Amino acid sequence: MILQDFLMLSGAAIALCCIGACQAAEPIDPAPAPHDGYAESRARMIRQLRDYGIKNQQILNVMARLPRHLFIPAAMRDRSDPYGDHPCPIGHNQTISQPYIVAYMTEKLEIQPDEKILEIGTGSGYQAAILAALGAQVFSIEIIPELAEHARTAVKDQSLSDVQILTGDGYQGWPEHAPFDAIIVTCAPENIPPRLVEQLRDGGRMIVPVGRYSQRLVLLRKRGSQLEITEDLPVRFVPMVPGS
Ligand code: SAH
Repeated sequence: MILQDFLMLSGAAIALCCIGACQAAEPIDPAPAPHDGYAESRARMIRQLRDYGIKNQQILNVMARLPRHLFIPAAMRDRSDPYGDHPCPIGHNQTISQPYIVAYMTEKLEIQPDEKILEIGTGSGYQAAILAALGAQVFSIEIIPELAEHARTAVKDQSLSDVQILTGDGYQGWPEHAPFDAIIVTCAPENIPPRLVEQLRDGGRMIVPVGRYSQRLVLLRKRGSQLEITEDLPVRFVPMVPGS
């Protein structure tokens, strides 16, 4: 099994000391908590997220309800525990991120209801579904057409209508819908993609894992022509591949 996207917990422990409580958004509930045989797995995942320092109750509520296993394509579902403390393969050599990383990046973005969020790297659609369930308008770009199609179905099955998924190259962003209040990149470019920064509104936030072999989560806030950049946790994500 290829686990390409894991968090180095020693780094997490240091960084977590600095995390304040997040501004809570009014969540839109996804489908009711399913009785699907995974309730205990989800409860265990939520306990672990709390233990790791995730505080935003709305993010925890949404993750406690969303059936993460259904975002993993059926053919890959029995390869690993969908609610385990690790990324899981979703096919095409890609992974759905470790629950902690999903929750951590979401918390850092401080999503407010109705904000316009751009995600780069739709993958399974799980992160996009969480953002939509928190009340955001989500625009997500995925370069692998089969994953984009899978994610569209997975998100629709949860009755989350405010998610648009584009098959394309994330380096270009989605200029037709810019500016965005926040951008979350869930694959790792070697440098911060300039077109994404352009598509951020003044005051907007971006979170992106940057680097080739050694990566760090970078938090960025646009202030007029200035960028405030903060380096955060060491992480390991799949690379952001250049579009053709
Ligand atoms: N957010 C996802 C996990 C992302 S895995 C989830 O919740 O499941 C990273 C994804 O980024 C992969 O699906 C990969 O195909 C995609 N990707 C890589 N390079 C890309 C690019 N240039 N543009 C858009 N997507 C890209």
